[in-house]
Amino acid sequence: MSDVIGDGKVVSIHFTLQAEGQTLDTTQDGEPLLYLHGVGGVVPGLEAALVGKSVGDHVVTTVDPADGYGDRKDEPAMRVPRNQFPADFPAQPGMPVGGEDEEGNVFSYWITHVEDDHVVVDPNHPLAGVSLEFDVRVIEIRDATASEMEHGHPHGPGGAHH
Ligand code: ZN
Repeated sequence: MSDVIGDGKVVSIHFTLQAEGQTLDTTQDGEPLLYLHGVGGVVPGLEAALVGKSVGDHVVTTVDPADGYGDRKDEPAMRVPRNQFPADFPAQPGMPVGGEDEEGNVFSYWITHVEDDHVVVDPNHPLAGVSLEFDVRVIEIRDATASEMEHGHPHGPGGAHH
């Protein structure tokens, strides 16, 4: 009996992510994705679908927005003056930006447009409100090391190097 996927396992998968008929991301032409199971390294719906799976298993699952990147929030996008960001901040569409307000509330936005003097940020992840279709093949499963558990991410090839 070999390992099955669960909390505290480092899992490597090949996956293709499609939404609304378009392929958004795939590892098929490159290295598999390595993630630490149980700490939100992949969206909750995908993590749940992989529990108990073994090496070689093929998983096809549709993840609802609530278990993916969230439902769309009813808050407008904002135009933020470029000079509110550090001068060397490499603003790019799709990048997350986050911080804390005066009351200590953590907020996160995603950049949607970059203009000369303004950056437009949206409170929704680019994939908020979208159903995600994952096609996954389980490549490898191993126990996480103590330092991986402490850091909350995998180390070594395909993971963090530090
Ligand atoms: Zn680390």
